[in-house]
Amino acid sequence: MNKQIIFDFDGTLVDTFDVIKNIVINEYGEYDIDFELFKHKGAKGLLKKANIPRWKLPGMILNVTSKLRKSENIKLFPGIVDLLYSLKSNYKIGIVSSNSKDIIIDTLKKDNIENLFEFVYSESSLFGKHLVLKKMCKKHNINPLDVIYVGDEDRDIIAAKKAGIKNIAVTWGFNSKEKLSRENPDYLVDSPMQILEVLPQK
Ligand SMILES: [Mg+2]
Repeated sequence: MNKQIIFDFDGTLVDTFDVIKNIVINEYGEYDIDFELFKHKGAKGLLKKANIPRWKLPGMILNVTSKLRKSENIKLFPGIVDLLYSLKSNYKIGIVSSNSKDIIIDTLKKDNIENLFEFVYSESSLFGKHLVLKKMCKKHNINPLDVIYVGDEDRDIIAAKKAGIKNIAVTWGFNSKEKLSRENPDYLVDSPMQILEVLPQK
């Protein structure tokens, strides 16, 4: 029986993609940016098609990241609050993210759901998210076999597998269903409530 559900934050619990998309359109409307292409092919595919000069990229990323940090528009996806309340009766739930803990807690507070989580583990590693998952388990004394990790990107699936953790990939975030399928997630879901269907219930 899996006892812990650990969620990624951006693209899984909150709709960061749409906020980034709006910032980019406002700031760099002169480029023809195909955001759907990003979901299928990642950043490389998008940049190639949009003809953005490489030297401009670091400045653009800094600008978008700093506007994203100040954004008040980051919201939970529809259905997430209901999902979390339903899970709470059978599971412990946590968050692991490279986003800052303050931003995550502030966002959760807007919906009064910060107390539903056992912990928010914030860390990023240049050497891969699997190391972050392993450290999170160690710090919170969790057996990786008791965890299901929910994420929206193909690299989340790869990281979970490397860390020996079961995973659920969600199709409402940064990657398309096709891109996620290629990494063979344990489960692939199209809506928050579908997560309840794939998880064992008491
Ligand atoms: Mg994500």
